[in-house]
Amino acid sequence: MEHESISRSEAKALGRKRYFTGKPCKRGHVAERQVPNGNCCECKRSYDLAYDRANRERLLAYFRARYAANKDKWVSYYRARCERIAAARREEAQAGTIPVMADSRDIERRCAPSRPPT
Ligand SMILES: [Zn+2]
Repeated sequence: MEHESISRSEAKALGRKRYFTGKPCKRGHVAERQVPNGNCCECKRSYDLAYDRANRERLLAYFRARYAANKDKWVSYYRARCERIAAARREEAQAGTIPVMADSRDIERRCAPSRPPT
């Protein structure tokens, strides 16, 4: 992937979140870095991945608990999101920017929660 070279201070002045110098990090990644702390994005990605793997059960339990506690909110959020997507699709289909397909109902069905909210 090509990145334009931009120094951290330039990126900061432009309000960017990342910058790229072309110099490898201490682990040898030639990748973008984060403006606030100068950390290599590639290092962060592998760190995050390792963290997720190491804490998989704990994270899953956490997300499940959060979901259970806010289930109604999630359900209405996903419903609203599906409706937005379906409406946008219908509009695009009407405007002729995408071919008319019978799948807007498909999307609604796919996005719908598998069980109705109680
Ligand atoms: Zn790195």
